Formats: sequence, C-alpha cells, structure tokens
Amino acid sequence: PRQILWFRRDLRLGDHPALGAAATEGDVLPVFILDRTLLGTAGDVRTAALADALAHLRRATDGALVVRTGDPARILPQLAKEVDATAVHVSSETFPYGRRRDARVQEALEAKDVAWVETGSPYAVTPGRVRNGSGDRYKVFTPFSKAWLEHGWRAPADDPEGLRWCRLVETDEVPEAPAIDADIPTISEEAALERWHAFLDDDLDDYDDGRDRPGDDTTSRMSAHLKWGTIHPRTMLADLERRARGRTGKRMQSLLRYRTELAWREFYADVLWHAPKSDWHDLTDALDGMAYDEPGDAFDAWREGRTGFPMVDAGMRQLLAEGWMHNRVRMLTASFLVKDLHVWWPHGARHFLDHLVDGDVASNNHGWQWTAGTGTDAAPYFRVFNPVLQGQRFDPEGEYVRRWIPELRHVGGGAVHEPWKVDDGYRDGYPERILDHKEERAEALDRLAATKR
Ligand code: FAD
Repeated sequence: PRQILWFRRDLRLGDHPALGAAATEGDVLPVFILDRTLLGTAGDVRTAALADALAHLRRATDGALVVRTGDPARILPQLAKEVDATAVHVSSETFPYGRRRDARVQEALEAKDVAWVETGSPYAVTPGRVRNGSGDRYKVFTPFSKAWLEHGWRAPADDPEGLRWCRLVETDEVPEAPAIDADIPTISEEAALERWHAFLDDDLDDYDDGRDRPGDDTTSRMSAHLKWGTIHPRTMLADLERRARGRTGKRMQSLLRYRTELAWREFYADVLWHAPKSDWHDLTDALDGMAYDEPGDAFDAWREGRTGFPMVDAGMRQLLAEGWMHNRVRMLTASFLVKDLHVWWPHGARHFLDHLVDGDVASNNHGWQWTAGTGTDAAPYFRVFNPVLQGQRFDPEGEYVRRWIPELRHVGGGAVHEPWKVDDGYRDGYPERILDHKEERAEALDRLAATKR
C-alpha cells in the first residue's frame, strides 16, 4: 500500500527513520505543506532558507516532492484519498504549536481510516524520554546531560532498501525565496554534510579553546542544518564517536565539549516539551513582579547595532548581515537588552527569530530565558555582562568588532572596545554610548530587589 511521508523539521533523505518506516510498507509520496501560521512568524530569512531546502529536497526526490499550501488537517486526508495511501508517516514534533497541529491532523486522518505513524524525532533522544529515578524531568542542564548520555541513542538509520517514490501529476511549485539582505548558507543535505566534515577536519580539535572567540569564527555553524533537519544529530554523534577512538588530552576535550553543546539543544527541547507555555512566557517565577520598560528608541538602536557599545553592535549587525550570531555574542546582546535596557526578553527573542536562519523556539527562547534570569540557569539575574569587559576578554585583538563595524576599522587592537577613548577623527561617525552601563546595572539590581520586597 502507498504511504505518505510528511516532511517537517527533517528535510533530508539520509538517516531518516520515518522515511525508512514508510518505505518498508510501500511506495512513498513525499509531501511538504506550507503552513500559513508558521510562515507568518518565520520572517524572510527563514522563509528563504526553507525555500532553498525544499528546492533541494525536490531534486533529491527526483521531482516527486509534493508541495501544498494550507491546513494539513485538510490537505493530508485529501492527498491520502488521491493516491490511496493507508498511512501518513512523520518524525515526531515536540514543540507546542506542532504538537497541537499534529493532534488535529491525526484525528482528521483517523476519521478517514488513514493511519498516523510517528518514527524518530529531530533529536538523538526524543524530548520527554530522559527522566530521573522518580520519573521526573531534569530542571538543570548538567544532570540532564549525564542522564541523556546514559540513555543513549540508536545508530543512524540505513538508507531504505528499494525506496520508490510515488508521483502526482499536479503539484505546486516550491515557494520562491523572498529577497533578503542577509547572506545565508545553502540549506540542503549535501551542504550540511559538507559543512560538518569540514568542521570535523579543520576546527574540531581546537573547539574547546576556540568556541568562545567570535573573531576566530571556528564554531561548526551546524545550527541552521539542525534547525531544518538537513542532518540528523545522530549522524553527527556517530561521527564524533568514531573520531573519539585514540583521542586524548585537548583533542578529546574538544570533542566532548562539542557533544555537550549538542546536549544543550536536546535539553532545551526537553524543557519546552515539559513546559510548553515557556515558549513565550517565563519558565520560572524567579522574576515575578519585575518592572520592565516598553521597547522604545533604545530598542531600535539595539536592533540596528548603534548602541555605541562595539561588541553589542557588532553582534547585532552580524545577525542582520548573516542571519547568524556567535553564541558568546548572543548571550551578551541578550543580557544588554534585558539588563541595560530593562526590556522583557520576548521582545528580543522575537527579533532574533525574525532574523536567525537557525531560529528555533526551544534554543532561542530558552537561551534568552537563561540570560534573562527566568530560565534554567542557577545563577541568574544578578550576573550582568559588562559589554566592554566581554569584548576585551573574548575579542582581545578587536578582530570581531572591526569585521562588523566599518566605522572603527582603523582603530587598532583591543582599543576598539572603548571608542570613546579614541580621538574623534578615528571614530568615523560611530555613535556615542546610549547609556551608562554602571548606572543601568545598578538600576537592574534595584528592580530585582524591588520584586523581593
Ligand atoms: P557550535 O558551537 O558549533 O555548536 C554546535 C551545536 O550545538 C549548535 O549548532 C547547536 O545545535 C548546539 N548548541 C550550541 N550551543 C547551544 C546552546 N547554548 N543552546 C542550544 N544549543 C546549542 N541556537 C539555535 O540553534 N537556534 C537559536 O535560535 C538560538 N538562539 C539563541 C539565543 C540566545 C540568546 C542564545 C544565548 C543562544 C541561542 N542559540 C540558538 C544557541 C547557540 O548560540 C547556537 O546554537 C550557536 O551559536 C550556533 O552556532 P554553531 O552551530 O556554530 O555552534
């Protein structure tokens, strides 16, 4: 009997458990549904990435990929009828919107006697499965990551034998990519594997040292591929395991560190699975009663990278230019919005999701909450990043700042982090600081104290 494979966050053919499950039952109709609700919140950068990924996936399926626009609860039963399919196969979705949608779609399909089959998920360990001895979730990262490792995962799935695509005569065109200013990478399975192997060969050995230096730009940049599922994390974990053999010292430490970063992605997905409302609401009540400011002119200066703090501005400009920002700078720019501008984190999280090609509700919104002090961090709100010290520490030679702030290109070395000490003539119109960090830090702590009274 014919089967439908409904692609979502798994836009690849390799190491694809749901595709394997479908292919063992019969010919497979590959389908992607453009969902207006999701598109409406994706922003142009992610829409362009999706269009790219779909164009590649259509080629990879020899043109069989069917693209439709609308409500999957209406479209999938129709398609099942059209090709006489007995089941719709998916990778499990674990985010709040997708879970609600899938419940509706499953009901609509089962009403028409079409089976709903979930196999695998976008994670090595499906969110919700890592539990402590009493069957509860882990609230803190380190014990989670240990239990995650102990839980373990299957080896990557083999390519399905005798896979045959089923074809429809009529299908919509893959969507056209909107014009965007950001220069984003190709999103395809081939590009994901190429990037991954280049990282393993060139930069993994120094990852532990290099990952915190935005100027070096040696992190893997796999986040966009993981977001779209052009690679499965299990594929990556299996490669890491192979490369771990015979490794010692710093090289081994780098490999383990990389694995730990992948565990952060799984942790945040697990947190969101257990607390679905934490996507846009505070996860904890640590800051209940906190007084925030409405986003105003300073928020615009932050978004556009003209706060007068070079490290913050460099990050915000990198975001607009590449649809990506280095992790160290994501933390710093987030801290600056919440603790120097006193703006509630969802405003910043929204801006990030509008521009990040790897924009992911779990990693982004919980990354924001971690920084804001409402999330899973144990040492929360009173740790306020100093934008100048962060620059001096993680970009000591000022390379990162000069890359993104042309106004400061002729300022040498670390002096670039304190342009107000530099002669006017060398600042080339770079803005004055919009605030006094020391004062705003004190203000943030006062507001925190007021919530405890
Ligand atoms: P690498 O350093 O090469 O790490 C490898 C992989 O590990 C990443 O691709 C990612 O999948 C995972 N990873 C690493 N750090 C984290 C982390 N802190 N949390 C979760 N996963 C992690 N990551 C996203 O994928 N999407 C987002 O929308 C996102 N928003 C963020 C917002 C804020 C405020 C913060 C502080 C972090 C955010 N991150 C997000 C996490 C992290 O910044 C990015 O995953 C990382 O910068 C991606 O670059 P990379 O692939 O080169 O990372």
